[in-house]
Amino acid sequence: MSKDHTGRSGEFEFIDAVRRAAGAPGRHAPVGIGDDAAVLRPPPGSDLVVTTDMLVSGRHFDPAWMSPRKIGRRAVLVNLSDLAAMGARPAGVFASLAFPPGTGRRFMNEIARGIETCSREHGARLLGGDTNLSAGELAICITAVGHARRGRIVRRSGARPGDRILVTGTLGDAAMGLVLLKGETPPPRPAARRFLVRRFLEPEARLKAGMALAESRTASAMIDISDGLLSDLGHILEESGADAEIRLTDVPTSAAFRSAPCPAGTSREDLALGYGDDYELLFTVPPSRMKKLDGMRLSCAITEIGEIVPRGDRRGKRVRVLDERGRLFRPRMTGFRHF
Ligand code: ADP
Ligand code: MG
Repeated sequence: MSKDHTGRSGEFEFIDAVRRAAGAPGRHAPVGIGDDAAVLRPPPGSDLVVTTDMLVSGRHFDPAWMSPRKIGRRAVLVNLSDLAAMGARPAGVFASLAFPPGTGRRFMNEIARGIETCSREHGARLLGGDTNLSAGELAICITAVGHARRGRIVRRSGARPGDRILVTGTLGDAAMGLVLLKGETPPPRPAARRFLVRRFLEPEARLKAGMALAESRTASAMIDISDGLLSDLGHILEESGADAEIRLTDVPTSAAFRSAPCPAGTSREDLALGYGDDYELLFTVPPSRMKKLDGMRLSCAITEIGEIVPRGDRRGKRVRVLDERGRLFRPRMTGFRHF
């Protein structure tokens, strides 16, 4: 942190508090917070997997929607979701924070606590970071580090024609939750509202599923759905050089999602296919490996929604969505921009 009106002593106090809360760095990190750099020691035979994601207030979220502790948690969860999508096991988290001038000490501590507890709950330790002042926005840049057995990570590029396309959980919940937070549609029953809003504020990183699918070499390609099914499936298709067909009626949605009124100008299909923030896993499985899914411990439901097909010569239309009668369905939304 640079010198400013809060003074270096305020920064040191904060870092001290973070360091105390983080505790010992764990067996995969001989050095954590408190030195110039952390030291990582991955288990023999494993690869280090590193991902980073930045959340900026006013772009990705509005601090008025959630407590500082939840903001910290969510910032960690979206990073862990990227580790899940590679099939890696979380080990360490780094948190670089920029606070707007005048941010209270309690707010800062609560963000740090959210980051620390969420990391720990998922088997990772807070190993370092940086603390700074911003000119106005709150910025949280999390870097998550994980391990995966050498050669077992799942890339976006491994999908082949004939592979089945599957997703974990349900889609559209987080989009509906965000719409509800913004007050753009009348709320459904309180329990449904709570569920949907929570799906936006506290996405579940599908770590168990990601690790099991990778470790067993079941998935041929995998990605987490942060921008929307069509957009993220597009990334798999781009990297794999293939196209895909999705059966609209098979796309899984929750009862709460189906019970909520749709905001004007959008449809339920748009929300489930075109918006992001669900952080479910989207993955492909070759037909010969489908039976491996039986009895696999994934801690969540999985649903087959379509198939990878050979790359056609259609320009730009990599995904064909078919309705219940097998006719082409034209989604309006293909990717979500938050603000
Ligand atoms: P340096 O000047 O070497 O960058 P800092 O004073 O920024 O050191 O940080 C001191 C220690 O505290 C380092 O180990 C750093 O990783 C850690 N640290 C600083 N800010 C945070 C934070 N927001 N979360 C976790 N660790 C932090
Ligand atoms: Mg620093």
